[in-house]
Formats: sequence, structure tokens, C-alpha cells
Amino acid sequence: MVRLHGTEKFYSLGKRVGQAVKADIVLAFTEEPLYSSKFKKAEFLFGEANRPLETCIVSLAPIREEFYGRTRDDSLLLQRLLKETLHELGHQLLRTMNHCENPTCAMAYAPDVAAVDKKQVNFCPACREKLTQLHATFNL
Ligand SMILES: [Zn+2]
Ligand SMILES: [Zn+2]
Repeated sequence: MVRLHGTEKFYSLGKRVGQAVKADIVLAFTEEPLYSSKFKKAEFLFGEANRPLETCIVSLAPIREEFYGRTRDDSLLLQRLLKETLHELGHQLLRTMNHCENPTCAMAYAPDVAAVDKKQVNFCPACREKLTQLHATFNL
């Protein structure tokens, strides 16, 4: 049996840690499988961002090949981890929970791990442009 953990507890912990060290954004990683405290049916999330708390979480459980009964692949795991990390940080930096329509962009919504594998470890030109504009506006 697998016990899933709600994202809410990671956000409240992340917020406390973020305040203690005066961080602008907190990104947490966990080996535990997650469900979304906001959308309860969303189980085994790759990650989730909480905009108001400026905290995000990435779970390693569903990006491991072993999770799908396949042979461990550390280089694939690292690729997926980087993509999902960019994705959740992208929600914070782009200041939106919207997703990109470009399936190869790190900001694309990934309903399954195959969709994660279609993404590049990068933002598409349109998202990069948005980041550049925000950078200029807010001096991020
Ligand atoms: Zn997203
Ligand atoms: Zn994009």
C-alpha cells in the first residue's frame, strides 16, 4: 500500500522555512508520492506550485522508472527532475498558474510521464520572452 501526502503540509512547512531564511521562492523536493490538497483527485503529482505562498514542491516518486515497473534510469530521472523543477519555478517566476500550449516547453502541462519526456529542459521562445519582460519590469 502506498500512502500519498497532501501538498498543503509541504506548503505550510515551505512558507515557514522561506520566512526563516527570507527566501523569495521556496522549492521543495520529496521522495513521497503526492496528491493535490486543492484538487483531491490529482494523485501522484509530479509537482505543484502554490502562488500565494510562493512555495512549490516536486515529487520524485512518479518520475522514477521503477514507479512504472521499469528498470531504474538515473539519467532519465535527472532530466525529468530538471523539467519539473523548471516547470514549478516557472509558475512562480511567470506569476501565473497557466500552462504553455507548446508540448516541448517546460511550462507545458504534463498529464503523464510520457508528456514530461516530450518536454525539453528549457522554456520555449514565447515563455522566455515573457520571463525577459518580467525581468525588465520587476528587476527579478
Ligand atoms: Zn503546472
Ligand atoms: Zn512555453
